[in-house]
Amino acid sequence: MPSDSGMWMIDGHSDWLLDIADTKRSFFEQSDIGHVDLPRLRSGQISAMFCAAFVRNDDLPHHALIQTLRMVDRLRRIVEESDGSVRLVESYDDLGTAHSEGSFGAILHYEGAEAIDPEFAILRLSYALGLRSLGFTWSRSNIFAEGVGEWNQDRGLTYLGKELVRRCNEMGILIDVSHLNVAGFWDVVETTRLPFVASHSNARAICEHERNLYDDQIRALADKGGLMGINFARQFLVQDASKPEHVSLDQMVDHVDHIVNLVGIDHVALGSDYDGAGMPEDLYDAAQLPKLIDKLRERGYSDDALQKFGRDNWLRVLKQVWK
Ligand SMILES: [Zn+2]
Repeated sequence: MPSDSGMWMIDGHSDWLLDIADTKRSFFEQSDIGHVDLPRLRSGQISAMFCAAFVRNDDLPHHALIQTLRMVDRLRRIVEESDGSVRLVESYDDLGTAHSEGSFGAILHYEGAEAIDPEFAILRLSYALGLRSLGFTWSRSNIFAEGVGEWNQDRGLTYLGKELVRRCNEMGILIDVSHLNVAGFWDVVETTRLPFVASHSNARAICEHERNLYDDQIRALADKGGLMGINFARQFLVQDASKPEHVSLDQMVDHVDHIVNLVGIDHVALGSDYDGAGMPEDLYDAAQLPKLIDKLRERGYSDDALQKFGRDNWLRVLKQVWK
């Protein structure tokens, strides 16, 4: 470790699909704008990443579907134009292929299910287009679930939301509970028969923020065989951290330590939130990611543990869910 191609890590969450369009930059050229592009992913040794399609509040409800499909189209065009340097990951084997050929594996994720209809036609069509991971809501209220930002914290998943859990299980779409409220989290625990993830959430015992998980949630997620991806967003790491210099690598490792002490190294991984949040000083873009690995090593994590954190835990979960 790192392996032959140099790219070996899997990152559980990024919003670059939206950000490159907003900032009018090319995915293929190194930029100093934003956090993610192909050259910086290579420097950061990131071989695969969950790429979120996200719909802004202003586009709800009527433009949810078209905005989602535009982002799916953006990703698929990048894959087509990449000459083999970017691969759309649709199966567990695709991850291995991307890794061995040294290409970047893009995993399509919807951050919010607003585009999906109650009859699940859009879910099936989205699967055909490459969807392999789904967050039911982005902190909002919709026909399936209630987000962390909504006032009704007693309401969990709706009847349709529980049906969506079962459909995802059947189809082999990973369920992501980041942004779901606490009641919805427990409904997922009760309904899913497969592991699920909190792709970009941290430990609430270390940093009190509604997007982070309580210890009993972390235990339940681990009991189901899932994982949580450490989110680099400053305010999820250190309370009220508004500036890059307010969060150190050591404070990030404190979250990893807490989760490892609770449930072991098998249930914590990467979920950067690059291009979707304000980053700590040391990890200002995707190329900086190895600094976190170095810090974990300095804090006593073995090569075996780092391999699990950086890659193997994601592989284990995806192998089980995608079948
Ligand atoms: Zn998010």
